[in-house]
Amino acid sequence: MFESLSDRLSGVFDKLRGRGALSEDDVRGAMREVRVALLEADVALPVARDFVDQVTERAVGAEVIRSVTPGQMVVKIVNDALVEMLGAETAELHLDVNPPAVIMMVGLQGSGKTTTTAKLAKRLSERERKKVLMASLDVARPAAQEQLAVLGRQTNVDTLPIVPGQTPVQIAQRALQSAKLQAYDILLLDTAGRLHVDDQLMAEMKAVAAASNPVETLLVVDSLTGQDAVNVAKGFAGEVDLSGVILTRMDGDARGGAALSMRAVTGKPIKFAGTGEAIDALEAFHPSRVAGRILGMGDVVSLVERAAETVKIEDAEKLARKMEKGKFDLDDLRLQISQMQRMGGLGALANMLPGMKGMKGAANVDEKALTRLEAMMSSMTAKERQRPDIINAKRKIRIAKGSGTTVQEVNKLLKMHLEMSNAMKRLKKLGGFGKLASMFN
Ligand code: GDP
Repeated sequence: MFESLSDRLSGVFDKLRGRGALSEDDVRGAMREVRVALLEADVALPVARDFVDQVTERAVGAEVIRSVTPGQMVVKIVNDALVEMLGAETAELHLDVNPPAVIMMVGLQGSGKTTTTAKLAKRLSERERKKVLMASLDVARPAAQEQLAVLGRQTNVDTLPIVPGQTPVQIAQRALQSAKLQAYDILLLDTAGRLHVDDQLMAEMKAVAAASNPVETLLVVDSLTGQDAVNVAKGFAGEVDLSGVILTRMDGDARGGAALSMRAVTGKPIKFAGTGEAIDALEAFHPSRVAGRILGMGDVVSLVERAAETVKIEDAEKLARKMEKGKFDLDDLRLQISQMQRMGGLGALANMLPGMKGMKGAANVDEKALTRLEAMMSSMTAKERQRPDIINAKRKIRIAKGSGTTVQEVNKLLKMHLEMSNAMKRLKKLGGFGKLASMFN
C-alpha cells in the first residue's frame, strides 16, 4: 500500500532530517518536491496545492520544540496535515436506530461491491455479534443474486431467498419485511452496479433508498482508479445521500491518490478499506494509521509528540510549584493562556477547572479575546504582572491605552485572574495539584 508515494516522500524528508537548521527556502524547496510526489500519486491538483500551502505556512511559522530538529518538526507537521487530509477521525458506522438498521451499498460494476457487502456483513456479525441479513437487488446482472448467496454461505450470513421477476424496490421491501419479522439487527442491500454513473442507475438508487430508508449509504469504489474513483464519488454524492466511502483494492494501490483526495473533494469520509480478495480483508479506515503508513516515519512523529508532551509537563510542573507556594501571578496567567490556546481555548479550560465552571467572562472568551488578554498583559510592567494588586485606576488607564483596549477589559482581566487564583487556592486545599498538573497536559 502506498509504496511509491512513501518512497518519494521519504526521499524528501531524508534530506531535511539530517540538517541542524532549516531556512524558509529549505522548507519551500522540500514542499515543492512533496507537491510533485502528491501529483504523481494522483492526488487531485487543488488538494495537493492546499496541502502544500498549509504545511508550508505551518512549518515556516512553527516554533521548534526543544530537543527535536527542525527536520523532525517538519515531518510531524506533514504527518498531522496528512491525517487531516485523510479525514482526521476514524469514521464509524452509525447503526443505532430501531432495528433493522439498513445499510445500502452502491457503486459501479467491478468496484468490488458484492464482495465488500459480504465482507462487511461478516465483520458485523462476527465482531459485533449482530444478526445480519444480506439481499442482492441486482437484477441486471444474471448471476449477481446467486453470487451473494454463495458469499453468504461462505461467511455464515443469511441472504434473502431469491424470488425471480421482482424489481429492486420490491426486493428491498421484501428484505425489509423479512428483517423486521425475523428480528435482524442489520440489513445490507447490495444494489445493482453499472459501467458508468447514469440517470437510470441514480433513479434506481433513489427509489430503493425511499423504500428502505437506509441509515448508511456506502459507496464502494476501486482505489486503483485514482481520480476516477473520486469523480465517481462526486457523481454519486450529488444524487444520493452518501454517508461514507469504502475504498477497495487498497492492497494493490501504490499511489494512494484516491484515498488522499476523497475527503477533501467529496466531503465524504472513508469508512473502510478493502485490503485483499480474502473475505476478511476489510479494515476500518484510521486516518492516523494510514498517514503513518504513507510517511513510514512513526518513530519521528512519536518522538516529536513526546518532546511536546515533555515541554507541556515541565510548564505545568513549574506552574504547580508556584501555586504550591500560594502564588499565581499574571505571568503565570500569560503562560496559561498560551497553553489554553493549544488546548482549545479558555472555555475548554474553564470547564475543566473546579470552581470555574460557568464562570462568566472565562467561558465565552474566544481566540480574539485571548489575543487581547495577551496585549493587556504585555502592556503591564513586570512588577504589575507579579503583583496585580498595585494596579490602580491610573495604571489601568495606561494599560488600556497601551494595549488598545478599555479599562473595563482590564478590570475583567484582573477579575478573571483573581477568580482563577482563588479557584487554585481552593484546589490547593483539596490537595489537587497532581490532578491539576495532569489536566494541563
Ligand atoms: P462488483 O461487480 O462491484 O460486485 O465486484 P465484485 O464484488 O464481484 O468484485 C470484483 C473482483 O474484485 C473480485 O474478484 C474480488 O475478489 C475483487 N476484490 C474486491 N475487493 C478487493 C480488494 O479489496 N482487494 C483485492 N485485491 N481484490 C478485491
